[in-house]
Amino acid sequence: LVRLRARLSRSQNALGKGLLTLLSREHLDEDTWEEIEDTLLTADVGVQPTQELVERLRERVKVLGTRTPEELRGLLREELIKLVGPDMDRTVHTENEAGCPGIVMVVGVNGTGKTTTTGKLARVLVADGNTVVLGAADTFRAAAADQLQTWGERVGAHTVRGPEGGDPASVAFDAVKEGIEMSADAVLIDTAGRLHTKTGLMDELGKVKRVVEKHAPLDEVLLVLDATTGQNGLVQARVFAEVVDITGIVLTKLDGTAKGGIVISVQRELGVPVKLVGLGEGADDLAPFEPEAFVDALLG
Ligand code: GDP
Repeated sequence: LVRLRARLSRSQNALGKGLLTLLSREHLDEDTWEEIEDTLLTADVGVQPTQELVERLRERVKVLGTRTPEELRGLLREELIKLVGPDMDRTVHTENEAGCPGIVMVVGVNGTGKTTTTGKLARVLVADGNTVVLGAADTFRAAAADQLQTWGERVGAHTVRGPEGGDPASVAFDAVKEGIEMSADAVLIDTAGRLHTKTGLMDELGKVKRVVEKHAPLDEVLLVLDATTGQNGLVQARVFAEVVDITGIVLTKLDGTAKGGIVISVQRELGVPVKLVGLGEGADDLAPFEPEAFVDALLG
């Protein structure tokens, strides 16, 4: 938690600082409110959430009358936390029932950080004492299976892989089977993310999902999105949400952007919570998403 805040504050708090400076102006005229809106939009907060936030701020500032910096900070903190959604269930579920491991499918466009996230998540689960099997169902990208296997060796998880260009669903099936045989606690399945044909993607991910669900309940479908891709990421998110039921979002590369508002817009877009955030390339750089810590990082 402390880590999330410390790691984010370097790149993120431009947004919070900008908003606080604007709100501290003696006269909050229309131009200033417009600047506040622009600041939020630039940080990828999204049009509707921006309007809602500005409306609430206007009302509360009016009620407040004279404003001390502490009051403004408190007010902004409260409103931002509300917008981020303090009550969403952000647990990554890996319930293993009746001898069945918890199954997590990781989906997203290539390059967003899917394989890295799968490796980091395995590390967290192994550190908590779980036995983890990794399924390298991204058989399309050359070296994806090697990359996942390297992660597996690093964190102490067993990797199941197939031939390059092989059938992703059969790798997923083998991984689940292995997980059941090993009495593993969790099976994490890394999938391919070619977006050029939606029907191809739909067929592939749909098939992986069906094959997995024949053998074990699927606990999570995590969509990995690169926070630096802004609105483009939202377009991708929509395509994936049409193909599979997403249960949680992992926002990666939040260490490299000041556009943290994407958390708010992507949750709105998909109606599912951001559960994890990627804060770097290292094995420890995955953090649970915590609305309050996140907003505190924004406000610096
Ligand atoms: P995939 O194609 O979706 O499986 O993507 P990879 O897992 O191979 O990641 C693509 C690149 O993004 C790699 O260089 C990763 O090290 C990097 N990456 C992944 N997550 C993060 C993150 O949270 N922060 C940063 N800075 N880089 C990341």
